[in-house]
Order: sequence, then C-alpha cells, then structure tokens
Amino acid sequence: MNAEARNDTGPALHIIPRDQHTVSRKNISKAALRVLYRLNEAGYDAFLVGGAVRDLLIGHTPKDFDVATNATPDDVKKLFRNCRLIGRRFRLAHVVFGPEIIEVATFRGTGEDDNAEGERRIVDGRIVRDNVWGTIEEDALRRDFRVNAMYYDISDFSVRDYVGGMQDLRDRVLRLIGEPVTRYREDPVRMLRAVRLAAKLGFSVDAAAAAPFETLGSLLTEAAPARLFDESLKMFLAGYGLKSFRTFEQYGLMKFLLPATARALKRGDEGLRALVEQGLANTDARVLEGKSVTPAFLFAVLLWGEVRDLAHAGIERGDDRNEAWERAAQRVVGEQCQRVAIPRRFTYAMEEIWALQPRFEQVQRKKVMRLLAHPRFRAAFDFLLLRAHESPAMRELGEWWAHAQQLPLDVLAAALPIATGNAASEAEPAPAVHKPPRRRHRRGGARNKPA
Ligand code: ATP
Ligand code: MG
Repeated sequence: MNAEARNDTGPALHIIPRDQHTVSRKNISKAALRVLYRLNEAGYDAFLVGGAVRDLLIGHTPKDFDVATNATPDDVKKLFRNCRLIGRRFRLAHVVFGPEIIEVATFRGTGEDDNAEGERRIVDGRIVRDNVWGTIEEDALRRDFRVNAMYYDISDFSVRDYVGGMQDLRDRVLRLIGEPVTRYREDPVRMLRAVRLAAKLGFSVDAAAAAPFETLGSLLTEAAPARLFDESLKMFLAGYGLKSFRTFEQYGLMKFLLPATARALKRGDEGLRALVEQGLANTDARVLEGKSVTPAFLFAVLLWGEVRDLAHAGIERGDDRNEAWERAAQRVVGEQCQRVAIPRRFTYAMEEIWALQPRFEQVQRKKVMRLLAHPRFRAAFDFLLLRAHESPAMRELGEWWAHAQQLPLDVLAAALPIATGNAASEAEPAPAVHKPPRRRHRRGGARNKPA
C-alpha cells in the first residue's frame, strides 16, 4: 500500500514501495550507489533525486545521477576523500570517480524562517544565492518541475513523491511547482529547462507553465551567458537537438537566446530552415552513435543564415569579398556572445568554417590542393554538404568535392585547370572530374596532404 501523508504546501506525499515502481539498483551507477550507501551508513538520509529518478521511472537511461542528503557539504567532504566542494550561488559537493561525478546537494530550505545568515539572497525576484539548508519537504518544493522532485530512498528503496510527479509522468506533462511567474522570475533559465525537458522526454509543457513565456521570455537576456552556453549544449548537443529546436521555436523563445537565428529564419528562407534542421538531425545521429560533436559546428550551423546574408549584402554594396565575410562573421559572433558565452576556441573554429565556404567555389588546381590540406577542411566540407539545401548549384558543388576526395591526388590535380589568377565565379560550373575506375580507399590524413 502507498503510504500517504498531507503536507501543508503541496499535495499528499506518496511513498511508493520498492515493489510498486521501476527504479532498480541495476540501473543506477555504481558510483552513485556507493555515495548513497556511504552517506546512509554514516547516519545521514540519502536519496537519488531529480532527473535520474524521473528518467528511471520512465525507462530512460539517466545522463547523470544526483544525490540529495541532510549532510552538509562539509560533512560530505569528511566522508569522501575524492570530494571537492564547488559553487557559490549553489554550494555543492562533487564526489569524483574517474570520469564520473556524483553531485551531492544538501536539502535546500526556503529561507523564509530566516536564521539564514544571508545565505539565500533574492535580488529583483531572482535567486542569486541559495545555500540555506532545510528539510526534504522544502527541498522538493524549491525544485522546478513536479517530475523532477521525486526521491529514491536508499534505506528502503522506496520512491517519495512530494508534489505529484508520478501523476505528471503518467500524463506526460511538465508542471511547475508553485506559481509560474514567481518561479521564472527567480530563475528565468527554468523556461529553457521546460522546453528542453519537453523535447527530451516527449512531454508537453503544461499551459500554466507555458503561459508566461511571452511576457517573461525576455528575462533570458539577463541570465548569465556562461550558464546559457551550458544550457545550449544540453539542448542541442545531447541527442535531441532537433526536437529542442522545434519546441523552442514553437514557444517563441528562440529570439531571446539566438536572435540572429530567429531573424534569419523569419526572413522565410525554407532552404535555410532545411539546412539548420539537417545540421541538428546529423548532430543527433552522431550523438546516438557515440561520435564526438562540437559546439563550433553547431553554432556555425545556427548562425550561418545571418552571416551569409550580411556578407552578401556587404559584397553587393561593393565591399571586398573576404572583408565582407570577415566582418559579417565578427558581427554575428559578437552579438551572439553577449547572450551565450561561446568560448573563444569555438568561435575561432566557427569563423574558419564560414571563411572556407567561398573557397569551395574556387576549383583551380593549387587552390583545391590547398583547401584539401586545410586542418579545418573536414568540418568545412561537412558544412558545405548541408548547404545543398540552399540551391541546386550548392548541391552540385558538394557532390563535386565529395567526388574529388575519392580521387588519387595526382589524378585530381591533372583534371583541374591551373589557376589563372581569377577566382571561379559562383555561376561558373566546376570542371568535370571523372570517377576513377575503381574506388581507392585512402586514409584521411594522406588525402589531406598535397602531393
Ligand atoms: P537532465 O536529464 O538533462 O540532466 P535534470 O532534470 O536532471 O535533466 P539537472 O540540471 O541535472 O537536470 O538538474 C538536476 C535536478 O535539479 C533537476 O531534476 C531539478 O530537480 C533540480 N534543478 C535543476 N535546475 C533547477 C532550477 N533551475 N530550478 C530548480 N530546480 C532545478
Ligand atoms: Mg540530471
């Protein structure tokens, strides 16, 4: 039987015993179990919490395992040699097991009964510091969505549902805990989390949780750019990027995080939309296959439309071609980085991917050889393939370069015209290179070196 008890602030607490839910220790990482057991043996309460419990209950594989406890960060540090304390706004213990980090958070209080010593600070409705310890009930209430506020108790393997999360899992809906406007004002990033989790889980966003997006969406522009970079990666590089993108756009939030993307798409270019969606779909497929993905390629895709249109406008005004591209890239990257702090090493790579695009149109011998040998050739070529959505000419150009890479370099070189000093124009078709009689498999490194 489910144990039930009322609490004042929310619905009844449901305690779901081990034989009535699907969370199994088999599916919890060894590292997380060790942390849970160790805390429990030392006399503390220890729960698996948040996304991991939610995901296990619906049969997904959790991305990370978070632990909640009544032990303070200092207590946790004493129990684990492999522990470091992090965070100012939100002080936490990280217990490190090789590549895996288990985040251990002390139950947060509401800070309302204030012996708080300034540890919970709210400025203009926004939580800027949240380090008041509290009870598990309070901890549940300060979480964002009801499905994220369930606790798996290591002492008896039950699941505690304080706010109706189980119901929402059944309804496949994200409902906020508390009053939506207040909760978004406290932390605007919760709006992004709503959209991201809806995409990830295939849930809908409850109408009450979605209603404030229109009026409060602009608060996202005040969120910390470094945090928004992290959130963007969770949204677009975690295997459900295309769905995130569509959900994000559907809820009208894109313009606050990716203004250039929103503007370019609004100009109504279907080719651009197809390019972006294909880029995101390819990224999702790579994540699924366990291949590496980079924020540089992602943002190069997301921002391309605006860069391209600005560069073309500059060239039409009579600007030097290279300068027009460079200026467009810098302007778009500059604006984007005010919202989302993309680290320099990625913006540099993005700029290179873009700068190489016009060079694909120059198919004289020397230039082709030089481009093939460029360290960023692979990414730039993958990008060119996405541009097949822009025009039939671009598709052909992509096919030409795909084919050119199959050829032995000497055969390719012999088929190409020697440079005359004039760059091939966009209108001029690339010279025909014929398929070799037999496909030769060459290794990437060798292919990229000029003969
Ligand atoms: P994912 O599966 O992508 O990791 P998640 O819900 O686990 O999703 P995390 O960022 O790992 O997301 O957060 C862990 C838990 O911390 C959440 O489930 C939620 O309970 C709580 N949480 C995270 N961010 C917030 C927030 N901005 N406001 C309130 N609670 C939050
Ligand atoms: Mg998580």
